[in-house]
Amino acid sequence: MRVAIFGGTFDPIHSAHLVVAREVAQQFALDQVLFVPNAVPPHKAGRTPFRHRLRMAQLACAGQPAFAVSDIEQANEKSYSILTLERLLPSGDEWFFLIGADAFAEITLWHRWQDVVAFVTFIVVSRPGSAYAVPPGARVLPLETLELDVSSTRIRAELARGEMPVELPPAVAEYIRAERLYGF
Ligand code: ATP
Repeated sequence: MRVAIFGGTFDPIHSAHLVVAREVAQQFALDQVLFVPNAVPPHKAGRTPFRHRLRMAQLACAGQPAFAVSDIEQANEKSYSILTLERLLPSGDEWFFLIGADAFAEITLWHRWQDVVAFVTFIVVSRPGSAYAVPPGARVLPLETLELDVSSTRIRAELARGEMPVELPPAVAEYIRAERLYGF
């Protein structure tokens, strides 16, 4: 299978994540996009508990055969992509790493980034205001046709003001309401 790992905080998952995953799956003939919520993001402190972010990702991906959600990073002490890759790669699948331009711009800050770029081909999706350079050794398939102005940061701010953002999938909005997340 051709599989793309889609790592992220997903705090919460939103429509741009889903549009990006769908478009990339189609453009690059992927069999599956595997959403991998980070357990303890090294660069993002004080986030929503893993179980909520995992559940919201599962709700957003339900009923979409090309999407799957992994809880593989739950067990990791730190969310280092290389540790996840080393567990997934032996499966015999062909692995890609789906990532937004903002996140890829920081790739050389990742733990053992040279090993990461040696293992996978990146599919880098453009994002408003984000430029990136391709570091030595990295293989990049760019997707420049999307320019989606959506972020979890803005969604959290709207929820904290009592607004329910349209960029949330209905089942995720319902979950946030029921669990009273983000101060909504
Ligand atoms: P935050 O605002 O909390 O930083 P985010 O909206 O960037 O969150 P993440 O969960 O950090 O969402 O993102 C997971 C992955 O999805 C990253 O690779 C990120 O670049 C990508 N991504 C998120 N939103 C977009 C978007 N609007 N366009 C393209 N890629 C995106």
